[in-house]
Amino acid sequence: MSTNQNNSDNKFMRLAFKKASEHLGSTKENPSVGCIIVKNGSIVSSGVTSINGRPHAEINALKSNKNSFASTLYTTLEPCVHYGKTSPCINQILKKKISRVCYPILDCDKRTHNKAESILKKNKIKVKIGILKKKLKFFIKVIFCHKKITSCLFLMLKLLFPKIIFL
Ligand SMILES: [Zn+2]
Repeated sequence: MSTNQNNSDNKFMRLAFKKASEHLGSTKENPSVGCIIVKNGSIVSSGVTSINGRPHAEINALKSNKNSFASTLYTTLEPCVHYGKTSPCINQILKKKISRVCYPILDCDKRTHNKAESILKKNKIKVKIGILKKKLKFFIKVIFCHKKITSCLFLMLKLLFPKIIFL
């Protein structure tokens, strides 16, 4: 992987986190996830988990973009593969012919945990896991692995967020 590719991956993942911050604390039991779709080096669409937790960020980003063929999808959390109240994001990713999917960490939810990669690869989609993981470790852990974000924690994240994201 070239340095250029790594630099642009980092840049777009930061933007996905920025997107995620928009609904931080407003997505009930689901984490606020951000998603950016990039084609030929430009952002063509973005999405965030809806207020109250549904639809997920990936669905929101994919539905507002008509032609996702051969695009890269950056999402701040492993895309879900399980059927809940809605069908999984991974189905839409496959349907829209995304060619590459990047996410920093695996979902803590056991129904999805570490399952997306093999499904994506089986469908000839490139996968990159771990972008910004080290740099944003604390932040990621708090927003994606805590079921309940207290108001105090929420306030702290809001204040810290701009600093963390642009390190
Ligand atoms: Zn999902």
